[in-house]
Amino acid sequence: MRDETCDIVVIGAGSAGCVLANRLTADGRTRVLLLEAGPRDTNPWIHVPLGYGKLFARTDVNWAYESEPEPALNGRRVFTPRGKGLGGPSSINGLVYIRGQREDFDGWGVPGWGFDDLLPYFIKSEDQSRGANAWHGTGRPLAVSDLPDRHELCDAFIASAEALGVPRNDDFHRAAQEGAGHHQATTRTRRRTPSVRPGTMSLTSSSLRLNAQTRSPSRWNWRRNPSYSGSACTVPSRCTMAAAEGSRWASAGRTGIPTRGATRARPRSPLV
Ligand SMILES: Cc1cc2nc3c(=O)[nH]c(=O)nc-3n(C[C@H](O)[C@H](O)[C@H](O)COP(=O)(O)OP(=O)(O)OC[C@H]3O[C@@H](n4cnc5c(N)ncnc54)[C@H](O)[C@@H]3O)c2cc1C
Repeated sequence: MRDETCDIVVIGAGSAGCVLANRLTADGRTRVLLLEAGPRDTNPWIHVPLGYGKLFARTDVNWAYESEPEPALNGRRVFTPRGKGLGGPSSINGLVYIRGQREDFDGWGVPGWGFDDLLPYFIKSEDQSRGANAWHGTGRPLAVSDLPDRHELCDAFIASAEALGVPRNDDFHRAAQEGAGHHQATTRTRRRTPSVRPGTMSLTSSSLRLNAQTRSPSRWNWRRNPSYSGSACTVPSRCTMAAAEGSRWASAGRTGIPTRGATRARPRSPLV
C-alpha cells in the first residue's frame, strides 16, 4: 500500500488531461495525480503514423465503442473508436492537424472563446515545421509537419478542384479555411506526436497511474478530509490519495464522461 497526496486529480490522460496535468504542474509546486484507464503507449503501431489501422481491433488501446442502433441507418450500430491509454485518441487518430474555423468559434458567441481569443493558444501549443508566423508557432510540444510523400492522385484531385474554381489553399490555418490543398500532420521526423502527453511534460510534481479506471462521476465520493484514503476510484489498491474537495478535473473525453442522455456509445465486443 502506498500513500500519495496531491492537490489535484486529473482523470483521463488523453489530449486534454495531459495538457491539464502539464500546465498545472508547471509551477513545480502543485501536485497532480493523473489517472488513466488504459495502458502506457508501448504498442509500436501507435508511433508509426499509418499504424492506426492496426489498432482499430485492439481493445487494449481502443475502447472500440459501438453506437446504439441508428434508425437512420436501418438499425445498424456504428463502430466508434476511441483511444484508451496514454495519449487517448491522439495515440490512434488520423494525425490530421486541423483547427476549428473562425466562424465556428465566433459563432458560439461566448466571451473569451472567439477565434482571436484562442489563436494565441493554438500558436503557443505548436511546433510548426514551416516556421513561425502570425498563425503558427514553433518550439512547443505539438509537432506539425508536411506529409513527406505526396501521392500523385492527391495532386491531381487538388488540381481538379482548382480547375473547377475551388481556391488553392496551402495552409488551412490562415484567415480562410476554404479551399483544396494538402493538410499537415501531427508528426515529427515521420513519427506520431500524440497531442501532449506525460512523456513531453514535467513529471516532477505529478504522478501517473495507468490502468486506473474511475467510476462514473455521479458516484465519485470525494471528501474534505485530506487524509482520506479509499474508494474514490477503482485504482489499484497500492494507491491511496488525499485530494482536497473541488480539486478534481475530469478530462475523460466526450464518451468517457457520462452525462445523462448524452452518451449512447457502449463498449463493443472485441473485433475479430
Ligand atoms: C479514430 C480517430 C481518428 C481521429 N482523427 C483525428 C484527426 O485526424 N485529427 C484530429 O484533430 N482529431 C482526430 N480525432 C479526434 C481527436 O483525437 C480527439 O478529439 C481528441 O484526442 C480528444 O481529446 P480529449 O482529451 O477530449 O479526450 P480523449 O483523448 O478521449 O481522452 C480521454 C482519456 O480518458 C480516459 N478515460 C475515459 N474514461 C476514464 C475513466 N473512467 N477513468 C480514467 N480514465 C478514463 C480514456 O482512456 C482516454 O485516454 C480522431 C479520433 C479518433 C478516435
